[in-house]
Amino acid sequence: MKTYSKSAALLERARKVLASGVSSEFRKYNHPHALFYTHGKGSRIYDVDGNEYLDFTLSQGPLILGHSHPEVLKAVGEYSETGQLFAGQHLKEIELAEKLNELIPSAELMRFCLDGSEAVQTAFRVARAKTGKNKFLRFEGHYHGWMDNVCWGISAPSPEALGSREKPHVFPWTQGLPEGVENDFIILPWNDLELVRKIVAERAAEIAAIITEPIMCNNGCIEPIPGFLQGLRDICTENNIALIFDEVITGFRISLGGAQTYFGVTPDLSIFAKAIASGYAISAIVGKYEWMQLIEQAKVIHAGTMNANNPTVAAALATIEVLENEQPHENMIRLGRKLMEGLRSAAAATGHAMLVEGPGPMFAISFTSLKKTADYRDTLMADKAKLGRFIAGMHDEGIRVIGRGLWYISAVHKDEDIDRAVATAEKVLKNI
Ligand code: PLP
Repeated sequence: MKTYSKSAALLERARKVLASGVSSEFRKYNHPHALFYTHGKGSRIYDVDGNEYLDFTLSQGPLILGHSHPEVLKAVGEYSETGQLFAGQHLKEIELAEKLNELIPSAELMRFCLDGSEAVQTAFRVARAKTGKNKFLRFEGHYHGWMDNVCWGISAPSPEALGSREKPHVFPWTQGLPEGVENDFIILPWNDLELVRKIVAERAAEIAAIITEPIMCNNGCIEPIPGFLQGLRDICTENNIALIFDEVITGFRISLGGAQTYFGVTPDLSIFAKAIASGYAISAIVGKYEWMQLIEQAKVIHAGTMNANNPTVAAALATIEVLENEQPHENMIRLGRKLMEGLRSAAAATGHAMLVEGPGPMFAISFTSLKKTADYRDTLMADKAKLGRFIAGMHDEGIRVIGRGLWYISAVHKDEDIDRAVATAEKVLKNI
């Protein structure tokens, strides 16, 4: 049995100076409490108590090449020798932008930022400025960062509490939001094109943007029903609305060109972060020239002291180079699907109703008798307490999975890792 006593002692010390001992809300929800780590290598991460974990969290997704990939570390080290931040232009920044332009269909013009949350806000600003309209339409259960206007829609206690599909009740995720900020957006259940069409027909004059995760990865891992993304594309084109794909998770993970390449639907604006740079703090707001030219013309302001700093740009270029040279996506899909199938079999063998959904490089499990989920409301019907017991049991056996049941596969996971995860899952499922 694993012990966590050194982490517990450090957490007690941390709590005296760090609010709840952590630097991000999500890090509180580890098992059995926030843990302290010493190092990571490949598909493994190690905590201060000397526990080793086979890691399927990949640090909330960014580590597509696993922990401490030598080529990424080498590129970061070498380029950092030239300086850490010029707050001026440098050659590698152009090389990275040229690379994204080559790989991502919508990336005609772009700007680099530090994280997904701020890049999302930049996209909203561009959409408002270009259309002269104010609201954005978004979907229940999708996560677009923690800023005031998106800190909603992910914390409903039950499907019933969400109320009608046409006019859902919205739950703030935090106190301290400015009065009236909920008027910035309209929220609807996902994957219901007819409903989007109806609401846009009534309110097109107010809507500047529709934002969606192209695969809903923040509650379950739900793919769009066939035609949904193309339907959004058409609605946006017909109504002078920006279509924004939030590719913070799907970008570089589902394919080098993101979900827009995978599904063949090109948005006006999109956000890339997480896997773009293997854990270094860089994101990109990319878009079609007709939208992004507002930033070029300084009609829309975008700034940031730390943007495109040397280590992050070097990390992104090195990550993309490895992905291009090694082409791991097919194998990541294969391994992911093998793990999904193994978990289904383990659940069946132990008498649990477990739903396993997603494209493979990421997927989600939930304890529910539903055979498929279409939206956030469906995900709220699952047994969260049982999921918590399963995740904790896996953790105690040395397998690290995100608490909401999301699994990420990296380019360095191997068949034997998958086999071990399946065997461990079967053992844990017998005891929950
Ligand atoms: N959008 C999506 C889809 C995300 O999953 C996240 C973070 O998990 C964000 C935006 C916010 O990105 P960041 O945490 O880099 O600010």
